[in-house]
Amino acid sequence: MGLIAKRILSMEESATLAMTQKANELKEQGVDVISLSIGEPDFNTPEFIKEAAKKALNDNFTHYPPVSGFVDIRQAIVKKLKRDNGLEYKPNQIVVSTGAKQALANTILCLVDPGDEVIIPAPFWVSYTELIKFAEGTPVIVETNIEADFKATPAQIEAAITSKTKLIMFNSPNNPSGSIYSREEIAAIVEVLKKYPNIYIVSDEIYELINFRGKHTSFAEFSDVKDRVIIINGVSKGFSMTGWRLGYSVSTSEIAKAANKLQGQITSGTNTIAQKAALVALERDPEDVAELQEMKEKFEMRRDMFYNALKEIPGLKLNKPEGAFYLFPEVDNYYGKSFNGKVIANDVDLSSYLLSEAHVSTVPGGAFGNENCIRFSYATDEASLIEAAKRIKQALAALS
Ligand code: PMP
Ligand code: GLU
Repeated sequence: MGLIAKRILSMEESATLAMTQKANELKEQGVDVISLSIGEPDFNTPEFIKEAAKKALNDNFTHYPPVSGFVDIRQAIVKKLKRDNGLEYKPNQIVVSTGAKQALANTILCLVDPGDEVIIPAPFWVSYTELIKFAEGTPVIVETNIEADFKATPAQIEAAITSKTKLIMFNSPNNPSGSIYSREEIAAIVEVLKKYPNIYIVSDEIYELINFRGKHTSFAEFSDVKDRVIIINGVSKGFSMTGWRLGYSVSTSEIAKAANKLQGQITSGTNTIAQKAALVALERDPEDVAELQEMKEKFEMRRDMFYNALKEIPGLKLNKPEGAFYLFPEVDNYYGKSFNGKVIANDVDLSSYLLSEAHVSTVPGGAFGNENCIRFSYATDEASLIEAAKRIKQALAALS
């Protein structure tokens, strides 16, 4: 009998966090590493949000909160859903959690039984598959490619459905591809899913506010499936609040009750100060928050800058992302080439090579379900992006 339980031994480490740790270790040794591995805005949390946190502390919001979150933040989320998404919900359909990550974990653990299948279009965020396996479910991956802008078609989704399918997970805007499903594309997928009333739909909308295309569309806007949609969202990305750890799920009250039960045994309610800070963030119409609009404009400008710089590199194939803050180029043209006699066989080798030779940290695409790609996060300052593009170009040119 081993010490560590099998469910942990068989779990992959989060590749995004692992690569970021590697980059930080090199930085501590004095190496000038440009970190393009972590997916988090480099901006500070807006002042009005920090002020609300200070007030919460002074007002002694320091006791256990309700497991699902304070009533006021759940009411603010209900209003946000109406204001930004045209959706009607009640506070008992909301569960506030420690990051969108916990909201996802709650949802998967509450819905997936051993043997259930969960359809995930690839590329997908690294934690999806591990959470599904933790619940003893089976991830069923739908492959996409750069020519399809990394989006799954309704026919591909229908082909993946079996009698065991319990859940399907969408993430738009997408991490790592930055792709956004249009309203028409979602409508076409809904046409398929409405024929399968036992399949639930996770709609991970954590990048809702980092959208350069236009208005966000949620799967929950489609009445044929609304009752089967679980929206996952939070304040990490849109409000630059990654370290506050606050996310939420929106679902039927039955699913919310189950998530409340699970969360009540694992973490209890989310940090009180973070809840009071997130409350003022969610109360504001994002269109009227200057800091958010500036951040979005900066991301779009950096997207253009980094995209144009990488486009110059022969052998890289790129899609132009419409949201989030990642580029996910296809890099397999370089596989089989070598540097100083060492062959770059795959995404992991290329990502390691870029770290050791160019001092640029990235994440291998295999962690997101596509080994032909690697992920760059462009959520960093412009000078670093220009320098990173230069170093990447040189390092790739040195491969023969
Ligand atoms: N979903 C996606 C697609 C993500 O990229 C992330 C990473 N932040 C999360 C969920 C988790 O977000 P949080 O930091 O709020 O836990
Ligand atoms: N979601 C971010 C990323 O993809 C943060 C890291 C993580 O939570 O895995 O890099």
